[in-house]
Amino acid sequence: SIPLGYFGGIGLASRNGILFKGSNFLDVMTKIDIVIMDKTGTLTKGVFKVQEVKASSLGKDELVRLAAAIEANSTHPIAKAVVEYAGDKAKATKAENVEEIAGHGLKGTVNGKTILAGNAKLLKKFNITYPAEVDGLVDTVVVLAVDNQYAGYITIADEIKEDAKEAIEQMHSLKLQTVMLSGDKQAVVEQVAKTLGIDQAFGDLLPDGKVEKVQGFKDAGKRIAFVGDGVNDAPVVALADAGIAMGGLGSDATIETADVVIQNDQPSKITTAIRAGKITSRVVW
Ligand code: ADP
Ligand code: MG
Repeated sequence: SIPLGYFGGIGLASRNGILFKGSNFLDVMTKIDIVIMDKTGTLTKGVFKVQEVKASSLGKDELVRLAAAIEANSTHPIAKAVVEYAGDKAKATKAENVEEIAGHGLKGTVNGKTILAGNAKLLKKFNITYPAEVDGLVDTVVVLAVDNQYAGYITIADEIKEDAKEAIEQMHSLKLQTVMLSGDKQAVVEQVAKTLGIDQAFGDLLPDGKVEKVQGFKDAGKRIAFVGDGVNDAPVVALADAGIAMGGLGSDATIETADVVIQNDQPSKITTAIRAGKITSRVVW
């Protein structure tokens, strides 16, 4: 017969919009030592808004128009913010040959000019120098280059989810270690980690860098829950003992790879999922 606790745990999970892809993951959840989380879209809302435009060589409108033409080819939340901010101004401008460079941003052509739009790492990759103030900004930033010359930047901000702090506190009261990994700049990552009281935070990570960090904790004998939402998160979700996806904003690849899906994207549901496992094991065993 099926033990009652199974229904208790599954019931708690399903009432909270948590989908377990197989009952074995209820058990896995009870054995987790460390919760590793992505920042954007997992702990923050993933809905960016443009704050400031700083143009160096071109006018501000021209900078925004070029950025939006390139970003119109990406589904990244940063790209959406730039396109929305540009509004109708950019609609007539079309970019060609746009490539997405994972963890960096985009490269494309507008009216014969080569445009780069992404983080500072993207400019470094193409050996383009930029003013030191860019690295000091505490907001997420899209840096622009036109024909291999720095052209300015657009700052973008995201909000921390309402229950994120509470979620981290719950993890700590369950004696779980908390870690945040992000491709965003270190200054932004540190600020978010400090606000939320996260134990360890690593920024400026490429998708492979996230895999390396998770593998490092695995090699140290930790049992890991990884929570993510992005396209680039699928490999780490697969590597973790429990791969958890934020299902609302999340990419299909990450949701498909995940063992557990949190449908309403609330970080506090991570500990609810762990409690669901504990209820199950307590009654079963
Ligand atoms: P994360 O979800 O942790 O931010 P990503 O790998 O999606 O990680 O992105 C890493 C970084 O790469 C972003 O923070 C941003 O700086 C840059 N980036 C990625 N895609 C774009 C884009 N379309 N436009 C501008 N910057 C981008
Ligand atoms: Mg992400």
